[in-house]
Amino acid sequence: MEYVRPNYFDQFRCIAQDCPDTCCAGWQIVIDEQTQQKYKENKSPFGNRLYNEIDWQEGCFRQYAGRCSFLNEDNLCDIYQEMGEDTLCRTCKMYPRYVEEFAGVREEFLCMSCPVVADLLLGRKEKTKLLYETKEEDTEDLEEVFDLFFYTKLEDSRDYMLDLLQNRSLSARHRFGIALGYAHDMQRRIRDEQLFEIDALLARYQKKNALQFYEEKMQEMRNGRSRYKIGKALNYVFLQMEIRQPSWKRWLERVSDNLYKKGDEDYLEKRKKFIADCKSEGYREVYELFTEQIVVYFILHYYCGAVYDGRAYTKVKFAVMSTFFIEEMMLATYLMGKKLPEKSAWVAIVYQFARELEHADENILAFEKALTNHKVFSLKNMLAALAYD
Ligand code: SF4
Repeated sequence: MEYVRPNYFDQFRCIAQDCPDTCCAGWQIVIDEQTQQKYKENKSPFGNRLYNEIDWQEGCFRQYAGRCSFLNEDNLCDIYQEMGEDTLCRTCKMYPRYVEEFAGVREEFLCMSCPVVADLLLGRKEKTKLLYETKEEDTEDLEEVFDLFFYTKLEDSRDYMLDLLQNRSLSARHRFGIALGYAHDMQRRIRDEQLFEIDALLARYQKKNALQFYEEKMQEMRNGRSRYKIGKALNYVFLQMEIRQPSWKRWLERVSDNLYKKGDEDYLEKRKKFIADCKSEGYREVYELFTEQIVVYFILHYYCGAVYDGRAYTKVKFAVMSTFFIEEMMLATYLMGKKLPEKSAWVAIVYQFARELEHADENILAFEKALTNHKVFSLKNMLAALAYD
């Protein structure tokens, strides 16, 4: 089995009761069958509580006011305290570690929905690299549902995008635009079943003149109204999703009131002032570093999953548009606070955004569907929006 991990994976340390949000607040945790069985068989005095506080039909811990019934007043887990770490269910034991398994490959990441992980990622100046390790062990038989050749092409493309998105000689919006363009062209090869042409496509995109082509093209296309339209559409899409915390819905409404309610001209005026402040206060570099870390996170987590649904372009749209919307929320934060947001404000938005989006499969699917079906997310429109400062 080959293990793949980002180079910051081992730096994570849970801060338990000092955590501003705790992992199990507002999130229904499904208990794996093996752990359910162990809890059922538990004959200790604590076993009674386990029996009563689990919804056996749904296979979940019961919740009270959005909190897991085992989360105590000190924001610590009673199961952990009473019976030890080994007795936790798979989800609780793993979180915020997240595993994606492909035939013979186990990819392990950290979820940004944990505030400590969000803080760790946004505090990094080093580039993200993937570390590979091979261990002798049996692998799950996924051959039937798995196209190994396609997976290797996705891996190659992911390596290319990792380099591109962290190429700091280019502006972040330029890098994001090229990644979208590449994935768009790659999707055509997938659709036409011409996977063997992906190597040539990669070689073409790695040439210097490809970077220049995109820079000039995006400069010609730049359009503030596209930026406004996409931001407004993203806000709408997120408001339609299943909301985990009511405060998140109120926040999205405030973002809409501050940015989109008064129309595109008002929006563009506000953005102009924000960009001017970024430039005068030397904030641009910080801003670009944050957005780079965020987009790389989403690419690492979702891109190779295209091996199962063939939608590589949607995965890149997902990463770039998630980052775009986080940028929009930071613009709203700037307008509300009347100053450029500090790292802690980014962390708070980023981890809550990830919680709302990533902790519900329905939301991930709804976002992918919107990105695929809505015309506002056309390549042309996204490039025009990204090019506009
Ligand atoms: S959200 Fe992260 S830091 Fe907070 S309790 Fe969970 S794992 Fe620990």
